[in-house]
Parts: sequence; C-alpha cells; structure tokens
Amino acid sequence: MARRQSYTRVVRSNFQSPDHVKGMGDRVFRGFQCLNKDCINFIFVREDSLDADFSVNCEACGFVHAAGETVSLYDYELLRDDEKIEDGAFQILHDDHLKDAQRYKYCIVCGTLKPLEQFDRHSARASGRQGECTLCKQVYNSIKNQTRLVEQHREASQKRRLYTQFEQPSKLDIRAIYDRFGCRCFKCGVDLASDLEAGALQKLGNLDHTLPVFYLWPLTTNNATLLCRNHNGEKAEKWPGAYYEDAELRRLSALTGIEYRLMAGTPNFNPEALEWLGKPEFVESLFEKFARYPHELLRLRNRILAATGFDFLDSSARISPDWRKNADALRGATAAGTEDTDGA
Ligand SMILES: [Zn+2]
Ligand SMILES: [Zn+2]
Ligand SMILES: [Zn+2]
Repeated sequence: MARRQSYTRVVRSNFQSPDHVKGMGDRVFRGFQCLNKDCINFIFVREDSLDADFSVNCEACGFVHAAGETVSLYDYELLRDDEKIEDGAFQILHDDHLKDAQRYKYCIVCGTLKPLEQFDRHSARASGRQGECTLCKQVYNSIKNQTRLVEQHREASQKRRLYTQFEQPSKLDIRAIYDRFGCRCFKCGVDLASDLEAGALQKLGNLDHTLPVFYLWPLTTNNATLLCRNHNGEKAEKWPGAYYEDAELRRLSALTGIEYRLMAGTPNFNPEALEWLGKPEFVESLFEKFARYPHELLRLRNRILAATGFDFLDSSARISPDWRKNADALRGATAAGTEDTDGA
C-alpha cells in the first residue's frame, strides 16, 4: 500500500461517559488486595490521595491501611549456631504494600480501569499515558483505516462456529494419518514427523479437510490430508480438484479411499449433512444458535440452494418467513457483486 490514502475522520455519536469516569482519564490509581488475610477485597485508591499521612479503609472488612502501620504474618526466631539471637514478628509495612501496588487508570472510552501499561505513552499528561486504552485505540484505528478488525474477526469466528455444527465427534486417529502420508506434507514432501512429539493442537494444525468443511465435510481420519502450514493455507476451502494436479488426485484417492471422481469433479455438498438440514429440529437449533449473527447461516442456505436446489428453510414450518426475505436479499447482493464471492 504505497498509495497515500485520503484523510479519514471518525465522527462519534451516542457516546456517554459514565459518571465514575468523568474527569478520571488522567488520574492514576493504585490497586492492591486488602492486607487483612481473611478479606478478598481488591482496593483501588487514587494515587494523589496517598500522602505521607495516608489512611485507606477497606470497604469490605473495615481494615485500615495507614502510614507507618504494619501487618504481622508470622513470628520468627533468628538462630546462629542453634542459638537464638533475636525474635520478633515478620511484618509488612502498609506503606511498602501500597508502594508496591500496580498503577491503574480509567480508559475514557470503554470506561474500565486498566493497568497503565495498557495505555500508550503521552508525556504531556500527568499520568504520562493517553486517555484511551490500546484496545480501544486499535478498534478506533480499524474503523478509521477501514480494516474493521471486530467485524472481520466476528465473521470468521461465526463461520468457524457454524461449520463445526457439522463436525461429528469422531475419533481422529492422528498417528494413522501421519503414517498414511509418511509424516510428510502431501504437496511438498516436507518432513512433519516432529509434530508427533509436539502438542495435539499443533498436529491438528497440519491436517487439512480433503473434502472441505466449506461443503460440510467433517474432519475424519479418512478425510484428512497431511499438509504443511503453507500448503494448508493455500489449499484452504478449495475443492481437491481445484487445487491438486491430476496425478496428485489419483495418489490421494489411493491413500484415502475417497473416490477420484468425487475429488476431481465439481464441488459437492456432503449428502449426510444435507440430510441433517432436512430435519426440522436441527434447522431450528441452528437458527437459535445463530440468531444474533445469522449472516453466515443465510449465506450457507444460499450456497446450498444454488448448488442443489434444496432450501433448508423449507425444513421447518416454525422458522419465520422473514429469514427467507433476508436470505434472498443477501442473494441479490451477491448477484450484484457487492457481496464477497465464496471462492472454490
Ligand atoms: Zn478488607
Ligand atoms: Zn478502553
Ligand atoms: Zn507443503
């Protein structure tokens, strides 16, 4: 992105700062646990109220933290050559406990108290930190720069969530998969044997859905291809015939038992998953689960309808007809090219 962007501006409305945050964006607090061992209260106190003569009451138990006071934690005897030279109480000075406490301040946007480290530096301010926290700043910048972090992440997470509804809890025999592929990336042959010594999550990271989850095929021992991270990312949601060379497809068929003609042909939805989508309870539960963010579910309905003529909105009479309207509107947008295309 060498091209200079024109200047964008974010105009804010409907923002309300809660009363406890007003005027607090540049005030530093100390946060510490109450020194009464039986009390679990965490205390925040304004740093500028802690003078040489401070006194801070715990609101939960009434314990007073005050300058010059101590708390005794145990009694000790100091021995030299088994001979006692001194005894006394192991004590913590309240002053030291407070001096040790983490420093916090309010974010003027999300209104939460966060450690100072979660604010970028700003030397002109008393706190030495900016008003808004780094998380709020990141989101602000993603709007300003049109990178839309929150929406992108949410869409990706809803998509993952939707497609896992079609994964059956099947035991994946990871070792059998690695054996089948000789512990090498099927595409480039790089040695992946070290995965087997690492954690289970890392192993799953190199397993690709041969027939993609995008077409509702679950990850099973037979439907897994061992691919290195690069080739896994490259293959992504593509149908095998759209990614592998013909010779590779034949070899993959021999290794996995998946029919060559299925892999080489046009993308095919998993018939078993389509069967579930014919069941009213399954479809109703999907709409309940994705009621808040139905976008991805409606896109799936449109993709299946376009590819097979099957409309899972017909599977239950209890689904509101509004969903059909919404899905059709989305389809219109796709046809007009304003909706992103579905790849593969
Ligand atoms: Zn307390
Ligand atoms: Zn914030
Ligand atoms: Zn590879």
